[in-house]
Formats: sequence, structure tokens, C-alpha cells
Amino acid sequence: MSDARPSIASDEVLDALIIGAGFSGLYQLYRLRQQGFKVRLFEAGANLGGIWHWNCYPGARVDSHVPNYEFSMEELWRDWNWTERFPAWDELRRYFDYVDGKLDLARDVRLRTRVTEATFDTDNNLWHIVSEDGHSVWTRFFIACTGFAAKAHLPDFPGINDFTGPCYHTGHWPQEGLDMTDQRVGVIGTGASGVQVIQEAGKIASQLSVFQRTPNLALPMQQRTLDEATQAQMKEHYPEIFRQRDQSDGGLFDIVADKRSTLDLVDEERVAVFERAWQQGGFHFWFPFSDTLSDIEANKLAYNFWRDKTRARIHDPTLAEKLAPMEPRHPFGTKRPSLEQWYYEVFNQDNVTLVDVNEQPIESITTTGVQTAEQHYDIDILILATGFDAGTGGLTQFEIRGNTGRTLKETWANGVKTQLGLSVPTFPNMFMLYGPQSPTAFWNGPTSAEVQGDWVVECLAYLRDKGLTRIEASAAAAEQWNEHMDQVAADTLLPLAKSWYMGANIPGKHQQLLFHFGASEYMDYCHESVANGYSGFELS
Ligand code: FAD
Repeated sequence: MSDARPSIASDEVLDALIIGAGFSGLYQLYRLRQQGFKVRLFEAGANLGGIWHWNCYPGARVDSHVPNYEFSMEELWRDWNWTERFPAWDELRRYFDYVDGKLDLARDVRLRTRVTEATFDTDNNLWHIVSEDGHSVWTRFFIACTGFAAKAHLPDFPGINDFTGPCYHTGHWPQEGLDMTDQRVGVIGTGASGVQVIQEAGKIASQLSVFQRTPNLALPMQQRTLDEATQAQMKEHYPEIFRQRDQSDGGLFDIVADKRSTLDLVDEERVAVFERAWQQGGFHFWFPFSDTLSDIEANKLAYNFWRDKTRARIHDPTLAEKLAPMEPRHPFGTKRPSLEQWYYEVFNQDNVTLVDVNEQPIESITTTGVQTAEQHYDIDILILATGFDAGTGGLTQFEIRGNTGRTLKETWANGVKTQLGLSVPTFPNMFMLYGPQSPTAFWNGPTSAEVQGDWVVECLAYLRDKGLTRIEASAAAAEQWNEHMDQVAADTLLPLAKSWYMGANIPGKHQQLLFHFGASEYMDYCHESVANGYSGFELS
């Protein structure tokens, strides 16, 4: 912990220090600067782009269709065109460069700057922020835009460090790339990143071994190329599309569940709704009806539709049962569905083997491959598609100390508590965006960056206008929000799955971490607090 003291001139103090140069952090930088605040951004990576800087593995691409996954400012979308309906990581990177060119953001960004300490000085109401390379700043407000995927989850199989070939987590893919052509590739994990990298490795690897714990109930992406003429037509509607996006529950403008009860419909009507959502692709089939994620019988009908469509693509009945079981292992949609293009066909190929780790658990990683209870799989390149310590990991992996001297990690040792997922009691003048106990992964990233981000910007402007220097979440409000989170989740089928939404992929972590009831309802709570003079917060 740093022992520096703020014997500094006020012109050396920032109004706000932002961590993270993804959508959330860059939007904060842009908007706070617009409001005349003195603001800087620290980013651990070598470039702007947030997760798209780190997740550059083959096949990495968004699952929010155009134009959802971009900023809504006309000065940005007017001259920008995508090449695909679901753009890949490299196009995202070009987009961030373009945004930087338009908004001149990089001049206030310090790259390759990993923050290691943030300490609140309670006498002066200032945060002291220190980075790995010893650089430090004082700031009135500290805004953590560290995203949900800043800490990779690395499995602790015996021998994991003994493997002699290239071994990478998908979220730490080498920036210079990695050629899998004619290599024996092993992929551990079949979540969203696993599905994407498996599709690419299957095309070029001499042998691909996929280690699966839970089948991914992946949805058809229905990818297409996009030309400028099509986008020019779409752009006529962009102002309305972005208005709808901001107000929709998932931050995706055109995904609206059918409000009728699944079970009230006759088969033909129900199948027609399913089929339409299926053909639209992307997340449309995640919750074709508004009761898909809350009524177990309705959910089963959606599962059966998905299962029959999927099994029809898999030649071998034994494989079909592993990838799309007759009976679901968990309710449909209660783990984040991935989007796929030719995922199921990959397993029909002779060079691909599916290893069910429930039948033959991984015993160890050897110097040359993976040893399961049944056999050794020889591998040249090992890919860990094992997900993230989502939501909290990025915040607790460095030392954030509030006004009690306790770290955030210690404060959350018995469970996360926040006010509206924005702020934590005893951590004054600190905000989190896209953080735990807000809709986060249930919300399109850029929508969250803007809508939740505007709340923070307006809060800081309010405090400045009123001559206030301190805002802190009240403990009672955080307690209430926590209870509300649990109640909301209990009304859904989500707690029935062991998912990273519940922290279940991380040993010892099990808590409802996402606000499930829709982003618009979430923002109603945030706006209600403002309307009541920032209720749930103590201002001074
Ligand atoms: P991020 O983009 O995660 O950026 C956080 C930044 O903080 C990172 O650059 C990181 O380096 C930096 N950082 C963290 N800790 C520190 C530190 N201590 N010091 C300095 N810098 C730090 N969401 C969607 O809505 N649609 C999608 O299609 C989609 N696809 C995804 C695909 C993948 C592979 C992953 C991992 C996530 C995806 N997401 C998607 C979720 C995605 O996280 C959000 O869309 C979006 O990136 C959130 O932006 P952010 O700025 O909040 O966080």
C-alpha cells in the first residue's frame, strides 16, 4: 500500500481517473471532458478496445448484431460501415482506432498502465491511484471501467505449467497470432470463446480434441456480409434504432419477446414464433417468449425446438446426445447461449474428437498433452477456453482501499454488496460501470456504457454544481439492493443453472451477480434515486 500523502497543489488533482479503455471507459472520458472535467484514463493494454484488445483469438467476434455494438453518436456512425452483421475482433479494433481519430481520446489515455492500488484519503476526499510502473495520480473521483472479463479463470489441473507447447487462455491470446495449421490442437471449455475458436481450429488443425463439461446450447448466428448501400438505408433509421436500443431490456434494439404465454398457444402458433426467432438469428431465440426464462414448461418447449434443430445437424447419435441431449442438463437460456455458425458440423469431421470430461475427467496436463481417466491426448497447442472470474475478479485482483482501510476484496469476502451496482458503501467517490449487480452481461456493452455511463457523468456534474465533494453508497441501501437482486433472480429459472452469472465457475464463489429484470427497469431504479435527491447515497 502506498504511503504518499496529498501535499499537492489543487491543479495537480484530477477530477476523475478512469480505469479501462473499453466502451465504458472511453465513453466516460469523452463525456466528462465534454462537461469540462479534468480527466485521464489508465489502461493496462497496449491499445484502446477493452476486451477486443485481449480477445484476439481466431473466431473472436461479437454476438450483438449491427448496429447495436457501437456508439450511438451520429458523428461516429455517419461515416463508419461494418463488413459483417456480427463483426470480428479485428474490425472492432479498427472501429476503436476510428473512434479515437474522431474524438481525439488517446491524448488523455495512458496505455500499458496497469493500476495496482487505489486508496481513498478520507481527510482530503481524494483517491490516490498507483500503477504497476510506479506512476501515480490524485483524483477526486475514481471510475472503474474494468469490464467483466479482466481476470481470466485459469484451471488448476495438476501439471498445467508442465505443458511444453504453446498454451494460451483465449483472453490472453498472443497479439502476434498463433498458427494452428496442421497442429494437434486441444480446447478445454465450450463456452462462448470455446465455440468460436473450435469452429476455426476445426478447419485447419490436423487433429482437434475438444474437452466438454457442459453442452453449449448455442444458437444460430445467421451471419451475413453487409455492404455500404444496405447500411446507408439502415442509417436512415439509426436515430430511432438507438433510441429503442436505450430503452430495450437487453440493450439490443429489435429483440422483443412475444408477450403471449407459450403454453396458451396451439402448436402451430408456438412453432411459428420459434421458427421466426430462429431465422432472425443471433439472440432472438434466447427468449422467444417473455416466459421462456421464467416458466419451466415453456422453457422446455423452447429447449425441445432447439434440440431437434440441432440434432438434425449431427450425424452420430452418440455425439448428438452429448452435444444436444434429449433431456436438458439445465433450463434453456439460463447459461449464456453462444452464437455459432458451423459449430455442430465440426464434430462430424474425422479430425475432431469430443471428450466428455464427465465420463473421463481430466487428471493432469502432461508435457505433451492431456491425460484423462481413460487415455492420453497428444496435443501441440493447448487452448484454455475456461472463461473469466466474471464481474468481480477484475475489481478484486488489485488493491482498492476505501475509507475503513479495508480492501474491496476483504469487504466482499462474504458477498458482494453494492448500491445499484454502481457504488459500494465505505468506498466514497468511486463508481463502477458494467460492474456486478447491474445488468452487465444481460445488457449490450455499448448501450450499458452510454446509458449507465450518463448516470455517472450527470451525478458528477450535479455534485460539482451543488458544491458537494463526497458521495457514498449507504449500507442500508446496498443491503436492500442485494435482497432485491435475490428476489428478482428467484422469479426466474436462472438460479437453476450452474453458470458464471452466479459465479459458479469459480470455486468458492456463488452469488447472484447480474440484475436480471431488464436494463430499462434497472435504469428506472437509478433515475428514481436521482429524482429523490440521490436516495441510497450519502452526499456531503
Ligand atoms: P472491457 O471492454 O472489458 O474493458 C475493460 C478494460 O479495463 C480492459 O481493456 C482492461 O485491460 C482494463 N483494465 C482492467 N483492469 C485494469 C487495471 N487494473 N488497470 C488498468 N486497466 C485495467 N458484450 C456484448 O454486449 N456483445 C457482445 O457481442 C460481446 N462479446 C463479447 C465477447 C468476448 C470474448 C468477451 C470477453 C466479452 C464480450 N462481451 C460482449 C462483453 C463485453 O465485455 C462488453 O461488451 C464490453 O467490452 C464492456 O466494455 P467495458 O469498457 O465495460 O469493459
